Amino acid sequence: MSPQNVATATVAAVDELQTVDSRLLGALEGFRTRSVLDEDRHIHVTWPQIPEAAALNDNLATSRSGLVDDFRSEYAPPVPGQVATPELNAAWRLVGASDDALGVLSEDYLNAGGSAAQSWHSTWYDRDSGAVVANIGLIDDREELREQITEGLDGHQGVFEDELAAALADDDIPVLGFTPQGDLFVGFDELQVGAGSAGQVSVVISLDDPDQLLSDFGERARAAALEPEVPGSETPGPPTESTRPAPQPSAKRVNCRKLKCVAITYDDGPAAGTEELLDTYRDKDATATFFVLGQQVATYPETARRIVDDGHEIGVHTWDHKDLTQLAPEEVGRQITRTADEMTATTGVRPTLLRPPYGATDDAVRAQARRHDLAVALWSVDTEDWRDRDTDVVVHRAVDQARPGSIILMHDIHDTTVAGAGRIIDGLRDRGFTLVSVTDLLGSPEPGTTYSSRP
Ligand code: ZN
Repeated sequence: MSPQNVATATVAAVDELQTVDSRLLGALEGFRTRSVLDEDRHIHVTWPQIPEAAALNDNLATSRSGLVDDFRSEYAPPVPGQVATPELNAAWRLVGASDDALGVLSEDYLNAGGSAAQSWHSTWYDRDSGAVVANIGLIDDREELREQITEGLDGHQGVFEDELAAALADDDIPVLGFTPQGDLFVGFDELQVGAGSAGQVSVVISLDDPDQLLSDFGERARAAALEPEVPGSETPGPPTESTRPAPQPSAKRVNCRKLKCVAITYDDGPAAGTEELLDTYRDKDATATFFVLGQQVATYPETARRIVDDGHEIGVHTWDHKDLTQLAPEEVGRQITRTADEMTATTGVRPTLLRPPYGATDDAVRAQARRHDLAVALWSVDTEDWRDRDTDVVVHRAVDQARPGSIILMHDIHDTTVAGAGRIIDGLRDRGFTLVSVTDLLGSPEPGTTYSSRP
């Protein structure tokens, strides 16, 4: 025991970790999210790239690329008819943002052979020194930290003493962050210090006197979690939430029984390139449908609003792009409602379409879609723009393969796709097509019913 006990530790739930609004970054000039998408291999990995944080960006890019490479070498590509395709999904959340500290939490999900494993880790960055700081670098009195964690987990169901001691001896602590009350949050990985039933073992250490346990950087990280601000700006606090009136429904409905209609769709955004894409659509007075991810809407709310304000349709592509057929029904429902709620709060429009990631759907997914008043919208023309990052190839596939009633799939996370938008719009019009939203193409899509093209 230390001569003086500065803190007490208690077992915590994982959601006691304070997260910070990612729109603080989305508003920054030069900020972008990066994504690796592989529709065949069921890979979706996304992470932030933050201006003037080169060492953090390198660290995240290296770690995220390594994760994808490891997955690709570990698991063979799926064969036709395979029941469950192994899946890699990695998302991120912000756990601190200020002028002098940034914290990014990576959340990795691997689903293979019928069981899913989660892991998480925090990466802290000191904006003053321009260096990534190891989690233990937030701590001044490391011995006190080890004692507190050991005491807090003493006798806790499913925690193994030896594994815990080994992790602490190595300073192997995947997550360090803070609670909304400003206490220290310590998180371990599944199976790292305990049985699978113990999950991601977490502890909260009360910080009545923060400077006794935290390093100087730890105190700055704590401030970045408790009083977040846009890094490099004078404006403290998150931007104010604006509530919006619902936009008017489009006045001119087209008759796709008479006209040759097609619907262009973009998945996985909004992202940094979406603004340029919207500029193109505005110039051409054309319309598209955007199947957005909740985590991207939360990061790029202004772009999500502009999609709707510019007259495009917006549909649900889930919160973080997991294969819905691999999730429990209540988790599918949570993915849908969390995303639809975020979209409604941000844009003023309640979505009526669901595009399940990878097009993976089954009876349980359709049942959840029906329950939440969403029709399931797949596609009939796959440009495979994620595979061929080649504007010419994408333009030709989109224009040449379109038939009356087609739904065309692309991704606005790829700059090569964004660059081809003008030529695709012109090319389809030259072939006599009218560009419409998915809902206008389908007429009155039924909740819970799956559509790949105009019926
Ligand atoms: Zn997608």
